[in-house]
Amino acid sequence: MRSRVRTEIYLDYAASTPCDPLVVEAMMPWLTSEWANPSSAHLAGRRAQKAVEEARSQLADAIGCSSNELFFTGGASEANNIAIRGCAQAHATARSKVIITPIEHKSVLGPCEALVQCGFRREVVPVDRDGRVDLGALANALDSDTLMVSIQLASNEIGTIQPLREVTELAHQVGAIVHADVTQGLGKIPVDLEELGVDLASMSAHKCYGPKGIGALYVRGGAGSRLVKPLCEGGGQERGLRPGTENVPAIVGFGAAAQIASERLESESRRVAKQRDELEEMLVKGLEGVRRNGPMSRRLPGLSSLTFNGVESDAVLANCPELAISTASACNSGAPEPSHVLLGIGLSRHEAYSTVRIGVGRFTTDDEIRRASEKLKAVVERLRSISRSESSIAGQGESVDTKVVALR
Ligand SMILES: *Cc1c(COP(=O)(O)O)cnc(C)c1O
Repeated sequence: MRSRVRTEIYLDYAASTPCDPLVVEAMMPWLTSEWANPSSAHLAGRRAQKAVEEARSQLADAIGCSSNELFFTGGASEANNIAIRGCAQAHATARSKVIITPIEHKSVLGPCEALVQCGFRREVVPVDRDGRVDLGALANALDSDTLMVSIQLASNEIGTIQPLREVTELAHQVGAIVHADVTQGLGKIPVDLEELGVDLASMSAHKCYGPKGIGALYVRGGAGSRLVKPLCEGGGQERGLRPGTENVPAIVGFGAAAQIASERLESESRRVAKQRDELEEMLVKGLEGVRRNGPMSRRLPGLSSLTFNGVESDAVLANCPELAISTASACNSGAPEPSHVLLGIGLSRHEAYSTVRIGVGRFTTDDEIRRASEKLKAVVERLRSISRSESSIAGQGESVDTKVVALR
């Protein structure tokens, strides 16, 4: 799987992870010799059906729920949409308020905006400088008109792990439904849905070493609970909640990925956190004006968000294209606006434009950590010295991009 040019270093594990070779191996038969439709009554169809159900129970075991509470979707974005829009449709007239934080994923913010267009009220409860939700403000916002609270388990940009157990306790006191996007937690920190007490949860395979285009929605109590209505009608797949022929290879891969990740969770998260900490140490100690975003404890093990004072993150990226890191969330790239998550925790636009996200993961080596930190340090120093000389002698730029328009 190491076909990349050796000089490239992949440190964007929060945007996507490589498919583990063991996952690819598990998927292989379902891409080659076993192509039948799981809805078919023949033997081959039944084998495919059985593979889907085995994957469902692998995933259920990994997150502490029962198989009948899991519905496969085309990813976490779709699961978030079904959770939020489908919940609103199922309870259309009962309650009219949804509560979120300013640092939710775009695929949560978007559906909430759609609800507002339909007459729902949206209340955004603040988070602190580390991204942690203000539980007092949440308690104040919750009332008997609150239909749902949607708060992620862990931030894909700054790694903050939310006190979800406390969130669900508060929300359930007023009878509100709790949805959690647990995508970034799955496979990286223990996720026990029973313990968290959430009613709906979204997840994705490609953030935990599975294939892209497959995710799942957890619905407490399964289809019978009527917590959500399907957004699409058609075939009865996934007990009517998500019609369409099941993506058997991807589902098998998701099951395998979830199982592998939960088996390795402890040792892997320890190693990954150590590498992340080393990288941060080298940059924070080796350079001036570097700030870590997110909390120092209760943070995702492999994620680092760093603000380099006086240096635009676009310029950093443009000057080390062989380093796969990102300016904000990948979902935001292409947009000239600074990250809503960084603004949400109180960074200025300027600081947000000077922030990079680095994601360490399963296949990161110590050597890559060392090389990446040296490269980043050199690039930041060079950019700073150029902007200093530019401001003092208004000289011509060198062959270095100090100002890069956000084209990505
Ligand atoms: C990646 C991500 C998503 C989107 O998942 P897809 O499967 O790519 O649609 C949603 N939420 C969070 C927190 C993510 O990190």
